[in-house]
Amino acid sequence: MKTFIEFDAVELPNHLHLTRERVREFLQREYLPNKSRLGSGFSPEFSRLCGDAGYIGMTWPKQYGGGEKSFLERYIVCEEMLAAGAPVWGHWVADRQSGPMLLDYASEEIKNDLIPKMIAGEYCFCIGLSEPDSGSDLFAAKAAAEKTSEGWALNGTKLWTSGARQAHYMIALMRTEKATEDNRRHGLTQFLVPMNTPGITVRPVRSMAGDSEFNEVHFDNVIIPSDNALGEINGAWKQASKELAYERSGSERFLETFSVLQALADYVHKNPKVHLQEALGSLVADLYSFRQMSLSVAMMLEQGKAPMVEAALVKDVGTLWQQALPERVRSIVGGESDFDDQPELRRDINRMLKIAPKLTIQGGTTEVLRGIIARGLGLR
Ligand SMILES: Cc1cc2nc3c(=O)[nH]c(=O)nc-3n(C[C@H](O)[C@H](O)[C@H](O)COP(=O)(O)OP(=O)(O)OC[C@H]3O[C@@H](n4cnc5c(N)ncnc54)[C@H](O)[C@@H]3O)c2cc1C
Repeated sequence: MKTFIEFDAVELPNHLHLTRERVREFLQREYLPNKSRLGSGFSPEFSRLCGDAGYIGMTWPKQYGGGEKSFLERYIVCEEMLAAGAPVWGHWVADRQSGPMLLDYASEEIKNDLIPKMIAGEYCFCIGLSEPDSGSDLFAAKAAAEKTSEGWALNGTKLWTSGARQAHYMIALMRTEKATEDNRRHGLTQFLVPMNTPGITVRPVRSMAGDSEFNEVHFDNVIIPSDNALGEINGAWKQASKELAYERSGSERFLETFSVLQALADYVHKNPKVHLQEALGSLVADLYSFRQMSLSVAMMLEQGKAPMVEAALVKDVGTLWQQALPERVRSIVGGESDFDDQPELRRDINRMLKIAPKLTIQGGTTEVLRGIIARGLGLR
């Protein structure tokens, strides 16, 4: 059992500053002038532009069209995209976790067919883990896949599936056998599910922010080919930890509400009062720490490690911080006499306050992450 947490110090190599400059130029050219048309969520057009620029599948093998670049270079690209609020959600899941998952576990035929199109920004993926009675406790999943003469028959319901209406494929965790008495993790398998297969119904679920980012996905005798089972049948739990480390440790875990920090920085630039500068400096120092931790996890993933505990820690501290950020910015500038004259800043704070509650739930709740961290430290 692990009894320490490892965050190696990571320095970004100098040549990667060029990458940052290039992404900024790309965003200046392709995104900022078209911001109102492209929005900040799903944009197939923007995803294809990212594909053309080589910003999807950057670390994947050249054999399938990938860039074989380092995780740190990909990190910089992601960081710049999020900081600009670019509409990356059409390719984010594919790039972050579904692609690596397929590269590890799919057949050559599937890889040759799908990976180049994912890299081109043409395919959107969603993650089918949670169910009505199984969120934190994924091993309680009931949605089932049964082997038939035609392939696999899927039945059941997935819930809170982000992007299911836009997605071309889901990577779904399905029950293929009952858990055993000595291993309740046994019996789950991951599948590649084309979302246009007959028998799939997707219903949007409205969130308190007024959008319908997530959905309920119902499977009614959905038949998929045998080859679409990914990795070990009944042994998905063995392959889940790396995927969750990818999901939990990226810069989206502290940059989703970043726009309010940028707005605060702009405000302080125009009103350079010492107490405002101090408050801004303190927030930036926090952000810098999360970023170094997250970079360190990216490095460990590059080295082939599965830093589950470190990734859980990044998500725990990062999401709590970004959740509190809109309220902190409001309390910093809310007392200023000209706050009422800052409609854009007020609008941004209000928008971010509405999305903030979800940040500590999606991708693993705070309580569950702390359980993982405690176990990693040998405390439970
Ligand atoms: C915006 C958003 C997007 C999402 N997108 C996706 C997606 O794309 N795909 C997907 O599969 N899921 C998605 N989810 C679902 C998310 O992963 C689950 O909501 C989350 O895992 C919690 O599961 P639950 O809602 O069933 O709550 P529960 O697991 O029922 O938890 C309820 C409460 O009990 C606490 N709790 C549960 N177990 C423990 C424990 N062992 N120790 C201590 N406390 C515990 C939790 O912290 C929580 O406070 C999304 C959720 C949100 C909010």
